[in-house]
Amino acid sequence: MADVRDMRIVIIGAGMGGLGTALAFAKKGFNNIHVFETASNLGFVGAGIQMPPNVVRVLDRLGCWEAILAESTNVRGTSIRQGSTNIELSHVEMPDIEEKYGFPHCTGHRSSLAGGLLSGCQKENAIKFHFSTALVRIDSFGPAPSVTLKPRDGDEYTLGADLILAADGIKSRVRTQMLAELGTESQEEDTGQAAYRIMLQRSEMEHDPEMLALLDSDTVVRWVGERRHIIAYPVSNKQIYNLSSAQPDDHFASATNATYTTRASKADMLKVYEDFCPLVQRMLNLVPDGEVCEWKLRVHKPLPTWVHGSVALLGDACHPTLPHLSQGAAMAIEDGAVLAEVVSKIPADKVHDPETVTKTLKVYELLRKPHCTALVDLAAHSGRSLHLGEGTAKEERDREFRQNGKTGSLPDKWASPDVQQMVYSHDWIKEANDNYERLFATL
Ligand SMILES: Cc1cc2nc3c(=O)[nH]c(=O)nc-3n(C[C@H](O)[C@H](O)[C@H](O)COP(=O)(O)OP(=O)(O)OC[C@H]3O[C@@H](n4cnc5c(N)ncnc54)[C@H](O)[C@@H]3O)c2cc1C
Repeated sequence: MADVRDMRIVIIGAGMGGLGTALAFAKKGFNNIHVFETASNLGFVGAGIQMPPNVVRVLDRLGCWEAILAESTNVRGTSIRQGSTNIELSHVEMPDIEEKYGFPHCTGHRSSLAGGLLSGCQKENAIKFHFSTALVRIDSFGPAPSVTLKPRDGDEYTLGADLILAADGIKSRVRTQMLAELGTESQEEDTGQAAYRIMLQRSEMEHDPEMLALLDSDTVVRWVGERRHIIAYPVSNKQIYNLSSAQPDDHFASATNATYTTRASKADMLKVYEDFCPLVQRMLNLVPDGEVCEWKLRVHKPLPTWVHGSVALLGDACHPTLPHLSQGAAMAIEDGAVLAEVVSKIPADKVHDPETVTKTLKVYELLRKPHCTALVDLAAHSGRSLHLGEGTAKEERDREFRQNGKTGSLPDKWASPDVQQMVYSHDWIKEANDNYERLFATL
């Protein structure tokens, strides 16, 4: 009799989603997991990341949270400020996040999260990494799925699998191919927004008491202005202050669809934020000339499905999001955990039954798609509210901000207690277990 744990699992992409998925399958006892990644190593961008309790819950189960936590900041509150004046519009204390949801809300360095996931994976003999190897195409979505791969310095080859999980990010080749097979087109959506990502070292900030106070705080600060904002928090044991912005996308407008990042000019960056307060100006001025990088923020129209045959999409490949809710990587990692949970439930006598495999992947989609779609919408909604210009809508927003979340709601959705309740309280592994059979029966 076949054992589900012998299934050949092929994962495309070693971003947060791919790493989390590989580790989740290994932890469920799967013993044949191959991860293919175009890049020669992880090479994560120098940037921070927020790790909300919903993903910490998963990381904890995967056994890699402790090492990540050691370098993280446990967030105790958020301060939302008028960018031009530095005057606080709202201050929300978050002292009880861990008490309420069982896990803290932390900020950290991306390399710390990725490194924690990777070293978790490296302890698992079941996981084999194939860096410098790109997926060229899916040859068959099922019933006997297979892929063509191309090592950077070698010839293309074909590989059979039992399950193909595409964690290949916003530019997902698998998504494009899957939608084409299903007779629809992959439609990216232009957000009109771009982001600068900046990391300032403690040594650069410590001469300035106001800056040092930010670095030594346990607070996420957002400076908001018309059509733009900056979010900032300490990472790496408070040795680094991470800033990430969102502003009108003026530099990619004429670029090709394939362009996502560009070396940007410091003068342009300073111009975009020229009416922000002196504190912000001083921080932006610390960025060395020639080291300003701008990211285009892209999303995708909601997909008709995430699953075809024995292939499933996850993470940014199927629900790319604006970063304003800080849930993109969290959702990708949760997707992987749910996939491992539901696939492990395939009965031994159905492991080679394509219909059971597809239906199981559909259970994953049923569990996750409505939730992720709602979060992507909320992130976009939050951005619109944060970026309001003068007028009655902004006056109403600022009035709501002044309630400091005491009404249960806040225009900045990541800090809004009602949204936190909705997002943070999910235990996706439990939900997968509780609902697998019921959802499977509906298919
Ligand atoms: C400014 C900004 C701030 C953010 N802040 C947060 C935050 O605070 N919290 C949070 O949870 N999320 C945040 N996010 C979102 C988060 O970064 C993404 O949602 C997350 O990284 C997506 O992970 P992924 O694994 O799906 O995709 P990716 O990280 O893009 O990984 C995809 C991988 O697939 C590889 N790949 C692509 N094509 C192929 C191929 N053909 N063959 C082989 N490999 C391939 C790529 O090289 C890449 O390594 C932020 C995003 C931005 C832009």
